Amino acid sequence: MSDSINEKVRCLIIGSGPAGYTAAIYASRANLSPVLYEGIQPGGQLTTTTEVENFPGYPEGITGPELMEDLKQQALRFGADIRFGIATATDLSAAPYKITIDGEKVIETETLIIATGATAKYLGIPDEHKYAGMGVSACATCDGFFYRKKVVAVVGGGDTACEEAIYLAGLAKQVYLIVRKPYLRASKVMQDRVFNTPNIMVLFEHNTIGLFGENGVEGAHLVKRMGEPDEEKVDIAIDGFFLAIGHKPNSDIFKPWLETDEIGYIKTIPDTPRTTVPGVFAAGDVADPHYRQAITAAGSGCKAAIEAERYLSEMGK
Ligand code: NDP
Repeated sequence: MSDSINEKVRCLIIGSGPAGYTAAIYASRANLSPVLYEGIQPGGQLTTTTEVENFPGYPEGITGPELMEDLKQQALRFGADIRFGIATATDLSAAPYKITIDGEKVIETETLIIATGATAKYLGIPDEHKYAGMGVSACATCDGFFYRKKVVAVVGGGDTACEEAIYLAGLAKQVYLIVRKPYLRASKVMQDRVFNTPNIMVLFEHNTIGLFGENGVEGAHLVKRMGEPDEEKVDIAIDGFFLAIGHKPNSDIFKPWLETDEIGYIKTIPDTPRTTVPGVFAAGDVADPHYRQAITAAGSGCKAAIEAERYLSEMGK
């Protein structure tokens, strides 16, 4: 990291999901003059969803991108300085903390709110890379449009997989839901929706071991009851392959300084967004392996901003 400081701020927020924007709203209203860097995916994961039905205050629902734009406008209204840019390195060895943006600019900040969220996981089979952008996707709502009247598969058995399968079923001719266990982990309401959608076929106890196709995905190699005596190889013909097997927290650049769990979620002091480094707070999915909801992320962003304000006032800054 370069030693030359380009800018000094009181409150730096990294990330632009519900946690980051809510922190920006609260920090602005508390006169902390926050600077927020939006990161790789401005607006965060909700910009890749369609309808959000469970964010309080929207009785008719709202689209993910609209919700994020509303949050951003609310933060701008109170003076938050929202910028494009990605945090690429950190030095949290002593306050004020140094954050490098886009590998060049160094910002020195009294308080840091980490709201970098989480990123979709892949299975780890080589074919996922081979067919990247050629039939493999981790976002049904981004790419589903390309599969109208086609056949697709979704991998995973959680709420995300069910949601994506239901969404794709509205576009595609046929959807396979590939589930490695003999049951779905998703909530009952999502399971019911899947089972009541005629063009979704759930393939329980199936694992994907490869994809095939000439100029793009034309099918998947599956194994039914892998490792069991009655193990069976099954090939399905598909045009698109969607991953929905969970997420990895975006915490890598903070790991030298902050404690994380075995998956990479930043550990915070229970019931608070405080990390083990004073003045550094973590909010939203990067620190939440349990709830991972927009509203809980927003709530923790609020807490982080309140903590930052209290920390600065205790330090007399
Ligand atoms: P989850 O961690 O809940 O589920 C991941 C799914 O992927 C599991 O079924 C898991 O299988 C499967 N999986 C993981 N790794 C592999 C692998 N290598 N091969 C095959 N399958 C694999 O993640 P989600 O993203 O679904 O949900 C995250 C959180 O967000 C949850 O708390 C969920 O409730 C919430 N959510 C809520 C929504 C809503 O309320 N509308 C919508 C979307 C998400 P296994 O079960 O065998 O471990």
